Amino acid sequence: METTFEDLKITRQFIDALESAGIHRPTEIQAKAIVPAMAGQDVLGIAETGSGKTLAYLIPVAGKIKYARDGHPLALVLAPSKELAVQIDRVWRSLAANTDMRSVCLYGGVGKKGQLAALKAGAEVVIATPGRLLDLYSEGQIFLRQVRILVLDEADRMMEMGFMPQLRQILEVIPVKRQNLLFSATFPERTEVLAAEFLEFPVRVESSAHGRPVDTVSQIWYPVPNFRTKLAFLLDLVGEGAERTMVFCRTRDAAERVSKFLERRMPGSVRVLHANKGQHTRINALDAFRDGEVKVLVTTDVSSRGIDVDGVSHVINFEVPKNREDYLHRIGRTARLKKQGIAVSLADPSEELHIAAVVASADTEVERRELPERIEVLPDLPGEKQRIARTLDLRKRRADPTYQGAFHEKKKRPSKRRSGTSNPGQKKKGGKKR
Ligand code: AMP
Repeated sequence: METTFEDLKITRQFIDALESAGIHRPTEIQAKAIVPAMAGQDVLGIAETGSGKTLAYLIPVAGKIKYARDGHPLALVLAPSKELAVQIDRVWRSLAANTDMRSVCLYGGVGKKGQLAALKAGAEVVIATPGRLLDLYSEGQIFLRQVRILVLDEADRMMEMGFMPQLRQILEVIPVKRQNLLFSATFPERTEVLAAEFLEFPVRVESSAHGRPVDTVSQIWYPVPNFRTKLAFLLDLVGEGAERTMVFCRTRDAAERVSKFLERRMPGSVRVLHANKGQHTRINALDAFRDGEVKVLVTTDVSSRGIDVDGVSHVINFEVPKNREDYLHRIGRTARLKKQGIAVSLADPSEELHIAAVVASADTEVERRELPERIEVLPDLPGEKQRIARTLDLRKRRADPTYQGAFHEKKKRPSKRRSGTSNPGQKKKGGKKR
């Protein structure tokens, strides 16, 4: 029989709050994590965004704190990005809606005034990115001696982003006697080291969907000759029946160009989210997308990690990601919690190998389809043909070191270069880039 929230001994006020948020039964990670966490044990949870991991740790946090105290923080939740922190705070507020517990969300890139005011008013739960937390701590603005639950969310991301020194500093200023809950989408060696340092005899729980694309995502890829044709096809895809679509690019520059192109053709229905945007712009873009004000969000891998938006119907990889993790992460934005979703990847000739690599390593099926005839094949951008040829060349040389392609590196083959193509300047640039 399926586990219920009652089975997990969650009190009525939280069950009611969950039900008003449309949440009726625990997900797998919740069913596994809540009981040991409520019993006071350290928990190591391997679960990605979309599994319900946020409530898997917030329900125990809420269950242990129960009501407002003197206003000093009792639980500290650390997250690698501002977007994730804001999202966790949103989940917390709906869970704690029927109580008097307060939270404060602390992240950098914005002024401190509002955050300081919220801290002054009192907060049992602090949700923060490590940098801003330490910043406020060093100014004496936050009292951490009463913290008794520490949560690290997306621990693998924190490691990747080099947060370890800050995490260690934070550990030094919170009480040693506390409960720790550490959640991570993956569990590479680095995270294991972190877990060993942070947790005491943890109970390890895992969401079985971990690492595998959800079965409800239909994955398709199309060979598309170049950037301009991709734009034309993208317009067709987002115009046609897609409800809420995330478009992924590899670089900020590409994300800007794609969003400007779409904005010109479908004014008012597109936002762009990447790391170069100001904090407010990023949060506004996400809110507009989440609230359904715009139906397309163009973004990059870096800024979209961990973002949770309900009802994303389509993920479009305008540019194919370089590795399996990013691919799985991107397509995981759709088909959340067993809803149907579609992931479409557009691959120019230099990206076809990436798709092949993803398919080979990800235990997943990606159907290849031909570009529909209605999509006009447009000319290459200046220099695009050379860029694609250079990438393919590099790939071939990596696979076969004896291969001598059209683009040779200066140092290795000076004589060939002189008698080679008629544009040595370009070759040099290509060699330098890599
Ligand atoms: P998370 O993995 O924590 O980012 O959660 C992903 C999404 O699942 C969020 O939109 C949650 O509101 C939703 N969610 C979390 N737990 C449940 C549940 N037990 N039943 C249905 N939806 C849930």
